[in-house]
Amino acid sequence: MERKLREIAEEAAAAVQSAENLGQLNDIRVRVLGKKGSLTQVLRGMGSLSADERPKIGQVANEVREQIEVELGNRLNKLKAIEKQIKIKAEKIDITLPGRPVILGKKHPLTTVTEEIQNIFLGMGFTIAEGPEIEHDYYNFEALNLPKDHPARDMQDTFFITDEVLLRTHTSPVQVHTMEKTVPGLPVKIIAPGKVYRRDDDATHSPMFHQIEGLAIDKKITFSDLKGVLQVFAEEMFGYQTKTRFRPSYFPFTEPSAEVDISCVMCGGKGCRVCSHTGWLEVLGSGMVHPRVLEMSGYDSEEVTGFAFGMGVERIAMLKYGIDDLRLLFDNDLRFLGQF
Ligand SMILES: [Zn+2]
Repeated sequence: MERKLREIAEEAAAAVQSAENLGQLNDIRVRVLGKKGSLTQVLRGMGSLSADERPKIGQVANEVREQIEVELGNRLNKLKAIEKQIKIKAEKIDITLPGRPVILGKKHPLTTVTEEIQNIFLGMGFTIAEGPEIEHDYYNFEALNLPKDHPARDMQDTFFITDEVLLRTHTSPVQVHTMEKTVPGLPVKIIAPGKVYRRDDDATHSPMFHQIEGLAIDKKITFSDLKGVLQVFAEEMFGYQTKTRFRPSYFPFTEPSAEVDISCVMCGGKGCRVCSHTGWLEVLGSGMVHPRVLEMSGYDSEEVTGFAFGMGVERIAMLKYGIDDLRLLFDNDLRFLGQF
């Protein structure tokens, strides 16, 4: 009987070692240690043994049972570890797959140009002022020396909301708001970037476009201050070789008034298609603030003087990047915008 027990132990050990998964291992357990298992069968036959033999065989049987259980436990741990490895391998991320490209956004050319212009003037001590896009007639026209019957109002092609309320046609009303807020303080030195609206729509005009207004008011401000500031702007914006030219002009809110041209950015002044063979490009309007505009906002025009200028951001961007159709800036075509 003892030999029989040893045989069972050997067989069980071999079977346990060759078990390849948890199911097989469990079958072995049932086959050996289960109610009808081989070890159990042998133990049932112990009743026929003599009183001398019984304790000895009992001890061997316990040893065999313990040994088999230890072996089952060891194999169980090993198989669990193997299964875990297989699972980890199956769930591994394949990092050799090419990733999805992240497309980065970029600034719209008008934003880039606006920031560039702002930075040039901030560097000269100007601060940024803002005002409403829906304006009263008073701020858009009257306070800028454009009374109700003034013929220059026709130049502006206004979107009226009511008789007295409109979409601002220029950023100049911000001048008036700023002066009203600051008077009698000095100096006033602002630029006012923003959207403006006019009833225009073709290759060089859009019903909505952007302007940047400039205003400086203090004691003893002269026309040469205006020329100096705009010369610095032209050089910073278009390169240090850029020349400026002031041509007499008319605006109701400045006196004297001047159109400012820069030497052509394409041909350097020799004459080409872009500058219509004149060598010059018109970039902005400017002048000394009209005494009546100063008076209306509360300043004493005998005490203080000032200059003002206004430029179209689209115009500057078109010159800087060589864009010939304004509408490209508003079409939101990524093939176009991606170039800047
Ligand atoms: Zn040219």
